[in-house]
Amino acid sequence: MRARTCLKCREYIIIHTDNPVSQENVKKFEKIHLGHSVVTADYFEIKEIYKRFDPNKKVDEEKKTIRI
Ligand SMILES: [Zn+2]
Repeated sequence: MRARTCLKCREYIIIHTDNPVSQENVKKFEKIHLGHSVVTADYFEIKEIYKRFDPNKKVDEEKKTIRI
């Protein structure tokens, strides 16, 4: 399994190439980490070091920020 990984934020998202929802989430991830050092890595190499990216959580945080 492979994962898009941001070396700056220490976050990753697993790539499921056959899953359209996953592809949307990967796009979201890349948008958020635009300009950072985003690489494709092996999930088993990075899972202990990096934090899993939660696309739904990020959306909630964005909504809260807008309300404030
Ligand atoms: Zn980042």
